[in-house]
Amino acid sequence: MTGFLKLLFRNRLAGLGAVILAVIVVIAVLAPLLPLQPPDITDTARRFLPPLSEGHLLGTDHLGRDQLSRLLWGTRLSLAVGFAAAVVAAVIGSAIGITSGYFGGRIDNLMMRGVDMLMAFPYILLALAIVAALGPGLTNALIAVAVVNIPFFARNIRGVTVGLAGREFIDAARLGGKGHLGIILTELLPNVMPVIIVAMSTTIGWMILETAGLSFLGLGSQPPQADLGSMLGEARGALITNPWTSIIPGLMIFFIVMSINLLGDGVRDALDPRLKSGALSRPQARTMQKFTDFADQPQKGLLDLQKLETQFHVGKRVYKAVNQVSLHIEPGECLGIIGESGSGKSVTALSIMGLVASPPGVITGGAVKFEGRNLLDLPFRELRDMRGRRIAYIFQDPLATLHPLYTVGDQMAEAITVHSGTSRADTRRRALELLKTVRIPNAERRLDNYPHELSGGMRQRVGIAMALCNEPDLIIADEPTTALDVTVQAQILALLADLRRERGLSIMFITHDFGVVGQLCDRVAVMYAGRIVEEGPTAQVLETPAHPYTRRLIASVPELGGGKRELVSIPGLPPAMDDLPPGCAFAPRCHRAQDSCRSGAVPNRRTGPRAVRCHFPEASETEAAHA
Ligand code: ADP
Ligand code: MG
Repeated sequence: MTGFLKLLFRNRLAGLGAVILAVIVVIAVLAPLLPLQPPDITDTARRFLPPLSEGHLLGTDHLGRDQLSRLLWGTRLSLAVGFAAAVVAAVIGSAIGITSGYFGGRIDNLMMRGVDMLMAFPYILLALAIVAALGPGLTNALIAVAVVNIPFFARNIRGVTVGLAGREFIDAARLGGKGHLGIILTELLPNVMPVIIVAMSTTIGWMILETAGLSFLGLGSQPPQADLGSMLGEARGALITNPWTSIIPGLMIFFIVMSINLLGDGVRDALDPRLKSGALSRPQARTMQKFTDFADQPQKGLLDLQKLETQFHVGKRVYKAVNQVSLHIEPGECLGIIGESGSGKSVTALSIMGLVASPPGVITGGAVKFEGRNLLDLPFRELRDMRGRRIAYIFQDPLATLHPLYTVGDQMAEAITVHSGTSRADTRRRALELLKTVRIPNAERRLDNYPHELSGGMRQRVGIAMALCNEPDLIIADEPTTALDVTVQAQILALLADLRRERGLSIMFITHDFGVVGQLCDRVAVMYAGRIVEEGPTAQVLETPAHPYTRRLIASVPELGGGKRELVSIPGLPPAMDDLPPGCAFAPRCHRAQDSCRSGAVPNRRTGPRAVRCHFPEASETEAAHA
């Protein structure tokens, strides 16, 4: 509950709505206790007094009645009627919806056709007809408003119920011997309750307006009783001469309906579990940047990350997902980034083009140099133009990244035309050429296939082809083979190696598998808890790993034909990114760790092409043995 309120108030507008509504409701509820003048006493000698007149704070109306008193009593009545109508409509509508959704078949048909009949009339007309039949009066207005809103609830709730009624937990309840009523009340109702509450919170405002509308037409509250609609209706004649008499109830209606709608939207968002983890907003087009530290050194290679820092700010917590990462890639080089899952590899890759979802992602420091310019500094238009054209991404699961409703050809065409205005025929020819480049058999036919018609390996080939569409200089491949089986993985790796040779591509290859790194990468960077802990040419790192973490990572790779060697796992767990230890993050799991490892940052030591972030690297031991 407190979680819900917190979430609700994180949305400023919903919070504002809640506060305004609370103030209005409290005043309306307390109206009988306030020192107000009687609302219905006329005093024609003192009619149309302006606001702030003596004794009448908001002035008087055309019969000399106190406006303030009528306003508060009227608000009280309007709120009560609107709320009552909403409850009646919700209860009856939901009952109809649940019943017809649960039983289905003929009952469903019968009930829904009845509801359809109600819906066939324009609802204001229907409400007018009902009041005309029942006679004017507030109670009848309430009935009319409730009735015209029943279909809305019935339809909504039926839809949700149909989806729930076929689920296993309903079957289980039935198998357990529960009756229909029991199932509806204890299994279905709790599940549709959030939908009912949301539907109510977003419609109460409407119902208040509709009731006010009927009163305005003289069909709701009858004189001398005041509600907001009848106050407006009576003030109509003096709209020009004494606008205050209309403006005051008008403003009140505005504030009530606006605050209810803001609050209703907030409630809807706060009840949506998908929004719980993130903030209540869509990710921005580019990762947010808040700089505390600005690295700026001359660029090395094609792409140069300099002390890049990306964090996730969730409430008061700060997750340091990427911590002062420095890396560079030469033209035509393949750099591997390896580490356990959660070590920050994907966030590093996404930070380059500002693709980390924000909120909660924030780039807090460093530089990303490409072609002599800092991508973090680039205007958004230029950055967007570079995305996919100069630097392209390949992701782990191509089924998730390909659009399920478009053919492969259409999607490739889109990727091509975003960056170049070529003709349709040309685009198709180019797409075909690319599919052939990635060795897809029957490329012509495949062009018209949908993603679900292709196998995993084929889909990943399409993913690679799409990355190649605009002849990028650098491809960032984020675990592109993790979802594939070994034979297909080998094919994809061979394909990437070929493409790199043929086109002089640079590749940043992210993986958690040292076997894959060994096959493809020239250099490898080992990542642990958001930091690069070791870096060097692949062969050297595999031969003589310097960081204890690297060594253990290599030792945990199974070897084919290596006999029944016991696989060594790394004891302990990676640290939580929002609570990193002060010294080396690996120290708690390291067999070589000394006290000095646990306090103070560990510097990166560079010797030739190798670099290691460790006080007691493994290699020094072997060197010592050799000496
Ligand atoms: P991987 O190395 O497996 O690709 P990621 O780069 O995806 O790891 O994630 C690195 C870390 O970033 C995770 O351990 C997690 O703590 C943090 N992280 C990622 N996304 C979020 C998020 N939306 N909110 C908070 N923390 C996140
Ligand atoms: Mg990842």
